[in-house]
Amino acid sequence: MTGLAHHLGELLFPRACAGCAAPGYLLCPTCKKRLATPPFQHTPNLTVHVPVFTLGTYDAPHRGVILAMKEKKNLAVRRHIGAVLTAALDYLEARGDIIPGAHLIPAPTRPSAARARGGDPVSAVCHASGRPTHDVFSLLDATPDQASLDESARRRNLSGNVQLSAVPQGPLIVVDDVVTTGATLQAVVEKLLAHGGNPVACVVLAAA
Ligand SMILES: [Zn+2]
Repeated sequence: MTGLAHHLGELLFPRACAGCAAPGYLLCPTCKKRLATPPFQHTPNLTVHVPVFTLGTYDAPHRGVILAMKEKKNLAVRRHIGAVLTAALDYLEARGDIIPGAHLIPAPTRPSAARARGGDPVSAVCHASGRPTHDVFSLLDATPDQASLDESARRRNLSGNVQLSAVPQGPLIVVDDVVTTGATLQAVVEKLLAHGGNPVACVVLAAA
């Protein structure tokens, strides 16, 4: 088998659960069950102006799934996580935590990172959820990786590097993979507010 064919085979037929690496599954039953637990509000010391809800904490299985989508180019699992996001949004709407029918706004990513990952995982998950999704944010390619910076440096890093191409009408939900300091969500929400947008909530796959 050539290198490329082997690589494609790995993409099409992942050999291990994205959440816990159990062999033979895309997602094992245990991880599927844990991913299906209801979202909850995340109340860290954030200055984001809207509520932030998370599908889980940044450990198994959420951490594994996020890394699989980002770093292992696991494209197949994105569709399942889209369904998990749909269920979480339905739950939050039913509880009255978020306005029904809000459109999704994927948090920005660097174009080079998205290309390296076979497309931005957060955007792919949003589209897979079936909810209207607007890819209007991007990061300048020169933006340093947030993970390498402390909190104040993250905020400086983002200001000016977050690009907004259009502001969709109606209530908006900002979606990201992991919230740590909240700097990215804050930058996105502030940018939307500054341009007449109506962000009503943020939803993340995991809270670190
Ligand atoms: Zn698993």
